[in-house]
Amino acid sequence: MKVTVDQEKCVGAGQCVLAADDVFDQRDEDGLVDLLNPSPSDDRGTDVRHAAAVCPAAAISVED
Ligand code: SF4
Repeated sequence: MKVTVDQEKCVGAGQCVLAADDVFDQRDEDGLVDLLNPSPSDDRGTDVRHAAAVCPAAAISVED
């Protein structure tokens, strides 16, 4: 699975971190998304897809 984030779209809502805190974090300086793991294992798929679905800015993309 390949995950990408668009820092330009991110509004720092933190929903992604709540959904998968091993894949997403927020930067201390501005709260924008920090992608910890761009290639999570397939067993993280449910949480990562949930993160993408709940992101209010549609800043997260997931590819198989
Ligand atoms: S949920 Fe979306 S807008 Fe919020 S921090 Fe994560 S990527 Fe940014």
